[in-house]
Amino acid sequence: MKILEIKQNASLQGLNSLALPAYAEYFCSVTDISQIQQALAFAADKDLPITPMGGGSNMVIAGDIQGLVLHLDLKGISSKPVADNQVEVTFAAGENWHEMVQYCLQNGWYGLENLSLIPGNMGAAPIQNIGAYGVELCDLFVSLQAVEISTGELIELDNKQCDFGYRDSIFKQAFKDRFLITHVCLRLSTQPMAQIQYPALADAVGDRTPTPELISETVCRIRQQKLPDPGTLPNAGSFFKNPLVTESGLDRLESNGSQSPRYPQADGTYKIPAAWLIDQCGFRGQRRGEVGVHEHQALVLVNYGGTGAQLLALASEIQDAVSAKFGVALEIEPRLYGV
Ligand SMILES: Cc1cc2nc3c(=O)[nH]c(=O)nc-3n(C[C@H](O)[C@H](O)[C@H](O)COP(=O)(O)OP(=O)(O)OC[C@H]3O[C@@H](n4cnc5c(N)ncnc54)[C@H](O)[C@@H]3O)c2cc1C
Repeated sequence: MKILEIKQNASLQGLNSLALPAYAEYFCSVTDISQIQQALAFAADKDLPITPMGGGSNMVIAGDIQGLVLHLDLKGISSKPVADNQVEVTFAAGENWHEMVQYCLQNGWYGLENLSLIPGNMGAAPIQNIGAYGVELCDLFVSLQAVEISTGELIELDNKQCDFGYRDSIFKQAFKDRFLITHVCLRLSTQPMAQIQYPALADAVGDRTPTPELISETVCRIRQQKLPDPGTLPNAGSFFKNPLVTESGLDRLESNGSQSPRYPQADGTYKIPAAWLIDQCGFRGQRRGEVGVHEHQALVLVNYGGTGAQLLALASEIQDAVSAKFGVALEIEPRLYGV
């Protein structure tokens, strides 16, 4: 059994993509199930709450985190062929998402190309049902394994049980803070497939043959043009969810004469790009001290060396302005900690 190293007052600044300065009361990195059990026993003994962490790219760590921050760093990949030219691939939680997308492409397992270059690790992908360029994790997801924090028991959940929605799953709802995801199983195709219905992707591919490799390269290129690299300019990707409005909400939104882009949803609501709303309020490229709104993408808040409190003050200034101008409430997408 590998002995677990638990640090006290550990800095989290280098472990979150916003580079916010904050400390964990206790911190450990676990690489297998036995270490998870050791960490759970340590936390139970001291009555500490547990905060799971992957790549730290969807966490706004606005202050110190009390209790044990548990970094899931399990590694490993296994695969088995299944019917109809498909393969089921199981990834350990600590595998890097984009590296796995590339690994699958190299092995001739297709379906993940549109999700290229999303930061973070495998274990966090189901939490908010990651999605981009017309594909969501739930389209490929088979099942996951997780350890229940309160009992230490290993469970398995299938696609239906995870109750996936837009940037949502049961892990943000009824099962919030209850499980540590250890493995994720996806069903991929061994036949090349192309999903290029998303307009920006279709335009960029043009009339070239949309091979999986071309789609992945194109998605990477678009993302690199649009989004700042957290390694260079710390950020957490989209800071707000795209709001859904009803028909009457749409009338109110447009009552001041502006014609907003809108995407009709199956339930009769419309998805409005949060970036457009923020842009209309004049925030793109604005800076408040050491935090700001990215100059090319109004949905991305960036950290030039500020604190979580400064970032949240900017977020609420944006929420207030959008609400006053359009009557739309913007919801923060990443999870807030230490507030
Ligand atoms: C530049 C940039 C672009 C992005 N683009 C996209 C995008 O296109 N689409 C998209 O959907 N997201 C996007 N994101 C958000 C982010 O990449 C995803 O949410 C990703 O899944 C987070 O992975 P992570 O390992 O960094 O999770 P973390 O930030 O470490 O954790 C996120 C949440 O999941 C919990 N968690 C993490 N791992 C586990 C686990 N193993 N078990 C239980 N709970 C866990 C944490 O407690 C936290 O609440 C982007 C982020 C950035 C910085």
